[in-house]
Amino acid sequence: MKKILVTGGSGLVGRHLREILPDAVYISSKEYDLRSEADVRRLCEQGWEHIVHLAARVGGIIENINYPAEFIEQNLLMNTLLLKYARLNNVPRLTAILSTCIYPDVYENYPLKEEDLHKGEPQKTNFAYAIAKRALAVQIDAYNKQYETKYNYLIPCNLYGEYDKVDEKRSHYLTALLGKIIRAEREGKKEINLLGTGKPLRQFMYGGDLARTIKHCIDNDLNESFNVAVDENRSIREIAEIALEACEHEDFTLVFDQTSPDGQFRKDVSNAKMKSFLPDFQFTPLPDGIRKVYQYYKANKTL
Ligand code: NAP
Repeated sequence: MKKILVTGGSGLVGRHLREILPDAVYISSKEYDLRSEADVRRLCEQGWEHIVHLAARVGGIIENINYPAEFIEQNLLMNTLLLKYARLNNVPRLTAILSTCIYPDVYENYPLKEEDLHKGEPQKTNFAYAIAKRALAVQIDAYNKQYETKYNYLIPCNLYGEYDKVDEKRSHYLTALLGKIIRAEREGKKEINLLGTGKPLRQFMYGGDLARTIKHCIDNDLNESFNVAVDENRSIREIAEIALEACEHEDFTLVFDQTSPDGQFRKDVSNAKMKSFLPDFQFTPLPDGIRKVYQYYKANKTL
């Protein structure tokens, strides 16, 4: 059995991965602060055969607007230290997780392909975070070129799943939406208030699907870098309507606060490269995934 380390093990993706890869070692900032050179050095000296790097300073749109310095500094620091000490300790494989927000904000030809990464600036609301994550792609490509490492990165679309942060300011769109639905049920209300116009387009993928893709890379020694995204690119409004239906609340009304920022209008990516390596991969259909996650949060009473 391979000796595998997963950073960011307490997060949404880390906990999905733990379900299907239980023998790996999962760490959070409590055990090792990846901004600390001493911690990263100590961590990487432990004979890992594959590191899955999920840890990141992650946040919603408002946090990204308010704390851009933290986002760029912490992510650049964590990524740089981890890559450096992984290589110095001859860790043979490393898989890092980026995000489709690193792609150009506006492009003439959607869906975005892996080779389009540097053809424009990322969106301004999460520019600092996106630049740090884009830099990680450059860092990994540079390491592979100069040091002949076999590291790779996956670029997932928006995610949802069990185990998300439940603080409304920090959770992702679908978790926040499910929280609003569950609270409306509890309070006997039928109105769901959402930020923005509802018009931006998003690809939403179940966290367990990304975990299965990461496991596939480990099991098959696949060190290619590619987008991981569902085929469907839907509007925020349409996703909210699907969620209401999945939760059996078609009678609820959606109210959009048009004065709030929308974020990037679209960032849909191509999954053709992924499908060339995983031709039989089946994504979880959005209504099924939402229903499962809704039932989880209702049962856990965390939202
Ligand atoms: P998450 O739930 O916010 O978890 C973040 C993880 O990073 C936690 O385990 C956290 O540990 C750890 N971490 C943060 N700062 C750290 C530090 N200084 N030292 C060590 N660990 C630290 O994130 P996620 O949603 O699972 O995302 C995982 C990866 O996927 C991230 O790289 C993210 O950019 C990417 N991604 C996520 C989405 C999405 O929609 N969720 C979409 C695309 C890409 P603590 O619990 O101790 O804070």
